[in-house]
Amino acid sequence: MPTSCEYARLRSRMVAEQLVKRGICDSRLLDAMRSLPRHQFVPEEHKPRAYEDRPLPIGARQTISQPYIVAFMTENLRLQPQHKVLEIGTGSGYQTAILCHLAGYVYSIERISRLAKMAGERIGNLGYGNLDIHIGDGSQGLPDQAPFDRIMVTAAAPRLPDVLRAQLNPRGGQLILPIGDAPAQELQLITRAGGRFTTRSLLGCRFVPLIGRYGFDSQTDSASFVS
Ligand code: SAM
Repeated sequence: MPTSCEYARLRSRMVAEQLVKRGICDSRLLDAMRSLPRHQFVPEEHKPRAYEDRPLPIGARQTISQPYIVAFMTENLRLQPQHKVLEIGTGSGYQTAILCHLAGYVYSIERISRLAKMAGERIGNLGYGNLDIHIGDGSQGLPDQAPFDRIMVTAAAPRLPDVLRAQLNPRGGQLILPIGDAPAQELQLITRAGGRFTTRSLLGCRFVPLIGRYGFDSQTDSASFVS
């Protein structure tokens, strides 16, 4: 198993080769990804591969996203320290920890309680207190805590759920989410100005399915979504 010094070196290389070379340039984000121990968010057997340029299994047929995708989604949200953020799909908690690092307060929803519990423990151990993890169906958002300055969905929805865009701050709130069935999904960025919503297509992508009332049904097979 690599030592903590070796992990730090792998992390620096990940930032330089996978992120900076592909155009990620937000210095606060790069600092966060240079310092957050991604290997602590993957199962023991995958730790030596935690800084590779790929998603990895985290159990329950789910994945931790590829570092570049985490960086790309985060950079496109242009987070500010005062932002209130909703994340849907806590997964390993790695992306959640980055949101906690960059934003004011983070609500995160995960439907698989075992993953939610492990993520909460990992992020708590790193000292972040600006987080509230909920177990449940994130496709419905968190209406009691709305509006949100930013919403990030880390699982693919069949279409944009109206309930989520309604939970965006009317003054420039933004939502990023993958839309579509396997294998042709598209990452979209939605911006709200009052009652107007504009959509920008950013990238082709492959995410596990968002399972829930406004997502796919529970029989959908995650394995068919991710290569
Ligand atoms: N960003 C995460 C990370 O860094 O580990 C990866 C998230 S993984 C690609 C997607 C997660 O969304 C899975 O943990 C899955 O259980 C969760 N998920 C799927 N449907 C959901 C729903 N309706 N509500 C909440 N979480 C959901």
